[in-house]
Amino acid sequence: MTPNVWDSNFEIHDEEDLRRKHHLRLTSATIDKRKCEQYEHKTRKKVEKWLGFEFKWLNIVMLTILHLGTLYSLFTINMIGNITTFFWTVFLGAVQGIGVTAGVHRLWTHRAYKAKLPLRYLLLIFYTIAGQNKISDWVRDHRVHHKYTDTDADPHNSNRGFFFSHMGWLMIKKHPEVIQKGRQTDMSDILEDPVVIFGDKYFMVLKMIFCFAIPIMVPVYGWNETWIRAISIQVFFRYVFGLNCTWSVNSLAHIWGSKPYDMYINPTNNRLVSFLSCGEGWHNYHHVFPWDYKAAELGDYMLNITTMFIDFCAKMGWAYDLKQPSRELVMSVVMKRGDGSHHTWDPMAYPNSEIEQ
Ligand SMILES: [Zn+2]
Ligand SMILES: [Zn+2]
Repeated sequence: MTPNVWDSNFEIHDEEDLRRKHHLRLTSATIDKRKCEQYEHKTRKKVEKWLGFEFKWLNIVMLTILHLGTLYSLFTINMIGNITTFFWTVFLGAVQGIGVTAGVHRLWTHRAYKAKLPLRYLLLIFYTIAGQNKISDWVRDHRVHHKYTDTDADPHNSNRGFFFSHMGWLMIKKHPEVIQKGRQTDMSDILEDPVVIFGDKYFMVLKMIFCFAIPIMVPVYGWNETWIRAISIQVFFRYVFGLNCTWSVNSLAHIWGSKPYDMYINPTNNRLVSFLSCGEGWHNYHHVFPWDYKAAELGDYMLNITTMFIDFCAKMGWAYDLKQPSRELVMSVVMKRGDGSHHTWDPMAYPNSEIEQ
């Protein structure tokens, strides 16, 4: 006789029944998880709405780790413990600085001079060592910065404070005005340059090779540097320090310094920034004459090694059509809009005054 299972306290589970229950359990767990996520999302949105911006969490985490790693390395690793590694790092720092200033800034963004193909490829490598954005992204942001300086449409609007203009702007989503003006920016010249197309296409591969792999492996295999020191010095010191040098142009040189050329704008001339950024700290001048290949009134090589590099390339025939304003034009601007801090004029330092734009 078959037991009357239907009236018993026992549950008989066939395979289908088990599958259904398992599915129900999964479904309710999924619903709970989704509710949780929706709650977190709503809370985050409320906070972001209250703050007036949305965070870029990946960038926040990465930049925090990099800077904490730098602080830890500074206290635990002797940066000049191996003099060859030290000079290798200083050399790379100067080369990457020139890549940013002579390459993506003065050449590709401002067209302040023209460069032959081999020099453009060299500048691409130099720029890639710095480990920054794709060339086209950098150029678009910087053109928007110049056109809408210190307004909502400026990606690193210095009116939003030092931290925002330094690195905070990379931690939050762009202001709608920045996105809109960025889309309207003419990028046709950049998108036609085969060097830029190549650099953007293989951006991540090139960055891994030139910013990290080669700088780390050369000291290890070249002069028996330890892996830990090589990685710490190249990633947490050179890379992070280089980023901060570039950012200082957007923050320090938009807040502190003199305004010999235009006292009605935020950008300033700042010697410290010039030293840190291979000659980009003459920023009050640069915002008035962005197409000057020197990015400064005078070609002072001590605080503008980028100008020295471009002059050298011009002598070699790799760079040409170097643009700069006439002495008369600069002086008339100084008289009309300067804050009175302009230095004594030295005509000998300005041999090409016949080149007027
Ligand atoms: Zn600026
Ligand atoms: Zn510029």
